[in-house]
Order: sequence, then C-alpha cells, then structure tokens
Amino acid sequence: MVDLSAFFSDNPYFSAGFGLLGVGAGLAVLRQGARRGADLMRRQLLVSMEIPSHDKSYQWMLGWLSRRGAETLLQPRHMAVQTRYKQHDNGSVSTDFTLAPGQGKHVVFYGGAFIQVDRQRNTKMIDVQSAAPFETVTLTTLSRDRAVFPRILAEAREHALAQNEGRTVLYTSFGPEWRAFGLPRKRRVLESVVLDRGVSEAVLADVSDFMANASWYDARGIPYRRGYLLHGPPGTGKTSFIRALAGHLGFNICILNLSERGLTDDRLSHLLAVAPERSLLLLEDVDAAFTPTRQLPEHAALRPSAVTFSGLLNALDGVASSDERIIFMTTNHIHRLDPALIRPGRVDLKVFLGYASPYQIRAMFMRFYGHANHARADVFADALAGHSVSTAQLQGHFVVYKKDPQCALDNVEDLLSSAAQS
Ligand code: ADP
Repeated sequence: MVDLSAFFSDNPYFSAGFGLLGVGAGLAVLRQGARRGADLMRRQLLVSMEIPSHDKSYQWMLGWLSRRGAETLLQPRHMAVQTRYKQHDNGSVSTDFTLAPGQGKHVVFYGGAFIQVDRQRNTKMIDVQSAAPFETVTLTTLSRDRAVFPRILAEAREHALAQNEGRTVLYTSFGPEWRAFGLPRKRRVLESVVLDRGVSEAVLADVSDFMANASWYDARGIPYRRGYLLHGPPGTGKTSFIRALAGHLGFNICILNLSERGLTDDRLSHLLAVAPERSLLLLEDVDAAFTPTRQLPEHAALRPSAVTFSGLLNALDGVASSDERIIFMTTNHIHRLDPALIRPGRVDLKVFLGYASPYQIRAMFMRFYGHANHARADVFADALAGHSVSTAQLQGHFVVYKKDPQCALDNVEDLLSSAAQS
C-alpha cells in the first residue's frame, strides 16, 4: 500500500501548493472581515435619507440641490437641466435654466456637515402615473449630523412654497391623483369681480363663518363640509369669482369636469377624498353631465364619462375630511339639476349671478375708467337698462375702448346689438 500522507508531505510541489491555498483562503477571510467591518462602521456612523421621485418633496429637493450647485464639493460630471418658468405680473412667461446634479454621487457641504448626494435612476421601473423612470435621491451624512436632514427638507419646502406665494395653484385630475395644471396663477383680487350689491360679501361671510366653526361641526358629529352652487347665464363671473375667492382665502382650486372621459364613480369618490388640503373643489357645469335625458340608459353611448348620478351623490356625501372641505358647483341651467343634488347638505348656499344689474354696470364702468367718470357711468347704465348684457360682454366692450370712456358710451349700441345676437 502506498502511504498517501507521506507522499504529499514529502512532495515539495504539493506542500507549496497547499501553503498558497492557505494564504489565499486567509486573505479572502480577511477581506470579507474588512468589508463586514466597513459595513458595520457605515451603519453605525452614517445615516441616509432616501427620497423617491413619486414623493412631493422630490422636486423640492432637486430645486434645493440646483441652488446649492456652486457649493457642491465634488463637482458633478453629469448635470441635468431643469427649466423654470417665471410668470410676470402682466401674465407673460419667461424661462430660465438651472442645472441640478445628474445621476451619480456628489458631495455637498451644508450646515457644517458633509453630505453625499446619490441620485439614481432605475431604468427597469417606471412610475405608472407619470410614465417617467423611477428615480431616487439619497442623502448620506455622519450620524452625529442627522439633524441637517429635517432642516434641508424644511428649507427646500419653504423655498418651493414661497414661489407660489400670492398665487393660486389649479389642480386637475390625472388618473387617481390631482396634478398642478399649468403655472400657479397670480391671485385675482376679489373686488375685481363685480357682482351685484352685497353678493360677494354674503358668500365670503358664509365661507368665513364655516371655516371658523370647525369645533361646532365636530361636537355635533356633522361632516365638516359646505357646498355652494353658483348659477346663472354664461359670462356672469361664476368661475372668476370662485378663483378670486380662493385667492382671497389663500386656497388652491381642484377643478373636476364630470363629463371627463374615463371618470368613473370610484375614481370620483377617490378624488374627492384625496383633494389637497386648503383647496376649493370646483365641479364645473354640473348640469352637462347629468341632464335627465342623458341619464336614460338609451343615451348611455352619448355620455362621455361613466359617472352616474348616484355615484356623484355618494361621492359628495362621502367626503369626510378632518380639514374643511368646500365644494363649489357651477351651472348655467339650475332647472336641469335633480333636486337631490342641490338639497341642503350637498348644496348649502345657492347664489344666482345674473345679467349685469345697473349697480354692476356702473361699478364696472368705474373700475375701468376711474371714479371721476361716475356721471358717464350713470348714463351708460341707463342706456343698458332693460337689456340682458353679461358682465363678460361689458368687459369685452370696455377692452375695445380701453382709454376712452366717451367712446365706450357713444358706441353702446354695438354692445346692445352683440348682446342681442348672443
Ligand atoms: P362664467 O363662469 O359665469 O361663464 P367667467 O367667470 O368665465 O364667467 O367670465 C368670463 C370672463 O368675463 C372673464 O374674463 C371675467 O374676467 C369676465 N367677467 C365675467 N363676469 C365678471 C364680473 N362679474 N366681474 C368682472 N369680470 C367678469
């Protein structure tokens, strides 16, 4: 029999091979140990905060990062362009570009702490709602500096909100969520919408009273919501008034068109439930979606949206929110609305905005041409007495004669004939 162990130990080639193997294994163990040690240290010493792209604060963070561009220590080699729109007071829009760190790792120094910023894009995952690739920004810093994270988030949010200060954001529905539509609009001054004597004040008083009485509703277990219906012919300021009111209250507006294709009862309920805080819900032209004939089964094909009348009632009744919920509906044809929709609890205050009254005609004339023209304003109002002219038509007429009140007066016949044709 051959003694194998003696053979291996006596053979110098084999023993050298085993020796090397041993060293290799030892090194591998050491390397693994070092990696584990580094992981452990990282876990103990570092903290990270991950912000996914579907979170609201993601855009705020990108804004924050682009503003800190100059202070970035490890200059990013890959930049991403962010186009910013700026709306001027006259409504015109200009754009400028800022560069935010693109994908990869960057280091920023903020509040005495070094922060590693890692922006990553997951090309395999797509955000279903925006159809954009899923991204994350991860901030990492030393454990002892963890207090900078809330500060950064607060600063990013404040800056983003300050941009909307004095503006009204309009939201529209996009799938199951609300998205800002266009740029935030400059607030419209409430007085610029000229309603009949006392109407604007009455609505404002009602809304203010509602907002001041949260605990009253709470104590009685009544859902904290209030519904308003503005009705009247087109061009009488229904939409303009709601926008101005929202601006006055510092609210945004969520606009929902019930005839929207693809809107279902479930989506409607969900949208009403998840409307952003401090926003007025505006359901425009409610009659268009729910004229009695359209509700007949044989007209189902004509209905672009799948919302049913009972679905709307359920959605309105189901709006339960700890915040105040103010719902505005508008219609040109109140008589077409089912009484169930406008009963108290769903519509608490109905406001009629009709054709311009002599009071409104005079007030609008003076808003355009100044109070010095009150005598002309009286003559102008007398000339229109007994005619159905909307405030939108009045505005159109004054825009034609911007600088010349006498011409506006002399050409009042034009206004009357165009109003008669419409
Ligand atoms: P509605 O919603 O009743 O159809 P809008 O609010 O859309 O009317 O008004 C259309 C246009 O007419 C807007 O440009 C608005 O500024 C102007 N307008 C209408 N009514 C008034 C009003 N009462 N006061 C001031 N502007 C008005």
